[in-house]
Amino acid sequence: MVALVAASLAFGRIAAFLPVVEALLARLGPSPARDLAALDGDASRAPVRGLRYRWVTAADLAAFLAALGGAAGEPGGLEAGFARGIREGEDAASALVPFLAGLRARAAGGGPSTPGLSFLLPSGEGGSALKRPLLFLRWMVRRGTEGVDLGTWTCLPPSRLVIPLDTHVFRISRALGLTARATPNLAAAREITASLARLDPSDPVRYDFALCHLGISGRCRGRRDEGLCAPCALRPICRLP
Ligand code: SF4
Repeated sequence: MVALVAASLAFGRIAAFLPVVEALLARLGPSPARDLAALDGDASRAPVRGLRYRWVTAADLAAFLAALGGAAGEPGGLEAGFARGIREGEDAASALVPFLAGLRARAAGGGPSTPGLSFLLPSGEGGSALKRPLLFLRWMVRRGTEGVDLGTWTCLPPSRLVIPLDTHVFRISRALGLTARATPNLAAAREITASLARLDPSDPVRYDFALCHLGISGRCRGRRDEGLCAPCALRPICRLP
């Protein structure tokens, strides 16, 4: 529950969304799953007064939390809800689409979705890379050694994950020739994942943290910079001009 809340709000600058995530989780207390289930689908009881983040309103947050609580209260919880969308031969991104659609419909209560809800629970239409839901899945499905990926879900093997494609991963993936695509969409995420699967077919997304943090840390600016490039281990294979 915490992972889905945190991943869904992880857009924009970290310094901007982190206080919102922290405030929301603080209000939910030490057992968010129990507290959200206790809402019994009633968004008006969600503890979101005064909270908002960019175009996600307090009403959106309330509906989102009530939907999570309701879905988690179904038999098998959120994992079973996600697992119902898994199809033979398809990857995690394909399985996410019906899962997110179900949560969105639940949150919208049978009415039209709001822009905030559609952003928190994206449809994947228009080539969206589904970055935040795929980040959530990475946390839940992979069991990493870095202490980030919890690997508590067993419904999907890590080999079927798709990399959560952000601007850093996209830039560095292009530099390394993992994709030649010009747009950071789901097709690019799948292509990068397929390239990484040549290194580790059982767990291609294991490289996500390293790729992403090369950019986040400022050690690569996505262009040649002698001060940064000289010590970079990727320099021999970097294709950036
Ligand atoms: S060589 Fe330079 S541009 Fe290429 S990945 Fe390393 S730091 Fe980035």
